[in-house]
Amino acid sequence: MRIDIREVGRQNGSSLPVHLQVPAAEVLQSYREFSFPGPLTVSGQLRYEGQGKLRFDGQARFNWQAPCARCLETVGRAETVALSLAFSNDSQAAAETGAEPAGAEPEAATEIPCYAYTGHIIDLTTALTEAIILVLPTKVLCRADCRGLCPHCGQDLNQGPCTCRTEQTGGSQSPFGALNNLL
Ligand SMILES: [Zn+2]
Ligand SMILES: [Zn+2]
Repeated sequence: MRIDIREVGRQNGSSLPVHLQVPAAEVLQSYREFSFPGPLTVSGQLRYEGQGKLRFDGQARFNWQAPCARCLETVGRAETVALSLAFSNDSQAAAETGAEPAGAEPEAATEIPCYAYTGHIIDLTTALTEAIILVLPTKVLCRADCRGLCPHCGQDLNQGPCTCRTEQTGGSQSPFGALNNLL
């Protein structure tokens, strides 16, 4: 996802409205158990801040899909991420502000990640990938009280109780306890 910054103008404070849409998979095909169906939409303002620096403020919208960690049913959500990004054509400056967490200097306390660019093209792909990964849940659940699958027969317990006898849990704690009952 690229923006030609010649359209922004070179005067401090001049800005360009940005509205871009691509298939989300073009930016991020998959990540861990997540896939990204549908479009990725980015909108906001790109502002020239002088000395080769630009600032983007806006948001990205996308959808993710992943299996529920308990019952494996596919869960899908629409997500909106606020974006505040800085771009610099001084790759060293970009690396310094981007990589180092603020440290002791109050000047560097802005938490806006800075990305390097060369020429007149800003590529948002890396910034978007990082922003998307940050908002993904660490654990996907179809609902907070998902009952998951029975560890013995695999039945989805959200659909109702299975026929496994509950006395198994009272008896042997061995994982082979269930096998013994079958033999
Ligand atoms: Zn579930
Ligand atoms: Zn069962």
